[in-house]
Amino acid sequence: MCGSCVCGGGAGGAAQDEVFGEVADAMTVEMHAGLASEGGSKLKMLISYVDNLPTGDEKGLYYALDLGGTNFRVIRVLLGGQEGRVVKQEFEEVSIPPHLMTGSSDDLFDYIAEALAKFVATEGEGLHVSPGRQRELGFTFSFPVRQTSISSGNLIKWTKGLLYRRCGKSYLPLTLTFCFLMPSQSLLEVNFFILIDNGLYSFVVKAVICIMRVGQDVVGELTKAMERAGLDMRVAALVNDTIGTLAGGRYSNQDVVAAVILGTGTNAAYVERAHAIPKWHGLLPKSGEMVINMEWGNFRSSHLPLTEYDQALDVESLNPGEQIFEKVISGMYLGEIVRRVLCQMAEEAAFFGDTVPPKLKIPFILRTPDMSAMHHDTSSDLRVVGKKLKDILEIPNTSLKMRKVIVSLCDIVATRGARLSAAGVVGILKKLGRDTVKDGEKQKSVIALDGGLYEHYMKFSACMKSTVKEMLGEEVSENITIELSNDGSGIGAALLAASHSQYL
Ligand code: ADP
Ligand code: MG
Repeated sequence: MCGSCVCGGGAGGAAQDEVFGEVADAMTVEMHAGLASEGGSKLKMLISYVDNLPTGDEKGLYYALDLGGTNFRVIRVLLGGQEGRVVKQEFEEVSIPPHLMTGSSDDLFDYIAEALAKFVATEGEGLHVSPGRQRELGFTFSFPVRQTSISSGNLIKWTKGLLYRRCGKSYLPLTLTFCFLMPSQSLLEVNFFILIDNGLYSFVVKAVICIMRVGQDVVGELTKAMERAGLDMRVAALVNDTIGTLAGGRYSNQDVVAAVILGTGTNAAYVERAHAIPKWHGLLPKSGEMVINMEWGNFRSSHLPLTEYDQALDVESLNPGEQIFEKVISGMYLGEIVRRVLCQMAEEAAFFGDTVPPKLKIPFILRTPDMSAMHHDTSSDLRVVGKKLKDILEIPNTSLKMRKVIVSLCDIVATRGARLSAAGVVGILKKLGRDTVKDGEKQKSVIALDGGLYEHYMKFSACMKSTVKEMLGEEVSENITIELSNDGSGIGAALLAASHSQYL
């Protein structure tokens, strides 16, 4: 069913294993290229200006703001140094009213700053900054930013697909794409793609709304809004979620060398030796290290085992030709790949009988959590698979044989994603020279993992871990750990505010 593709998994022969080794090597090569020059690779290898990761010595009260697509979180952490560690942690989640997503950026930042000010006002006993000291904030902003310092940077592009599902008979996915135009233009463009689909037809409505002038950097905007809200707070660090996860991971384990996010999207960050970054022309940081935001979702290579389904998905996506690696491994797409294969099986092999179930034609109707539920079905009659097919795709009567085929399909797609993710991790370890044992030296390397896909899709995470082991071999694997760093990114940003504090 996958033609000549190489999906890995149980039946994986030597030839298939080689593919993942080639992908790992290609990742290493692209990492070198992206570090050599700006635009030298599909991998942007962005310099984060984070040259100090948390050590555990951090002390005091710090804030973090995590701005996602439809909501944001404000976090307050009291750090007690090596003894006290995280003494106290509080957070609040705030959703962004839809009208602010289309209003002016001032309105959006004012809303955020006011929420932050309200949160600051709830500081309890013992949760205060020393008199005369400004509060400091780590700002997590999970879109690609070309930084100009630890606390400033310009947005390169802001693309995020959001899918809403409405209950009831009709299905309405709504995808918002935020696109920042090039600096030569002066406006931020927001595209609305509204796909209304009742199973018979679909159409796309596109509207362009301007909410932000390019040239205003995000930190500047937030700082001005905080001033307007009467809040005396300084943005000490601007980071993305991957770097936040790396910082949070490093705080709890000093052997953490890289972080990978596998959620709706995917990305990786790691600690590079500053002298190994040819495109860096600034002073070498005292630590000798620099965190690199790989933006690895955009990785692509001729070695990637792509199929006709991947090609079609890419062509019909909102960002054709981009984020190819993300489109085969991340949570936004795995369920959609399964749907596409099923759709072709229905059309060309009458898998579901004489007619193609209309719901099966709706893009993104099969979500990765549903795919995962089917994949993990252990009942003898695969009743979860049956129920999902009935509830989501409105396919009422499926035989056990059909259900088994569908479980295999989920396995193929998830296994390929997990093995490719593992190959990416091995590529990073190779770049760091940590894929071998040197002179019997037991140098530990820990990769911090976060994201809903890795956390909840157990067969995916298990396969990813076993593939890393398999690729590196017994001896090296003993020194490598993949660790779930659950929600380290929020506290990570606060930790980075601490390690880049103006009072150090
Ligand atoms: P985000 O990446 O949007 O910041 P998360 O890290 O929470 O958010 O990841 C959410 C994604 O994780 C979902 O889009 C989905 O693809 C995936 N996911 C969540 N739950 C499950 C599950 N039970 N099984 C498989 N994938 C899941
Ligand atoms: Mg996330």
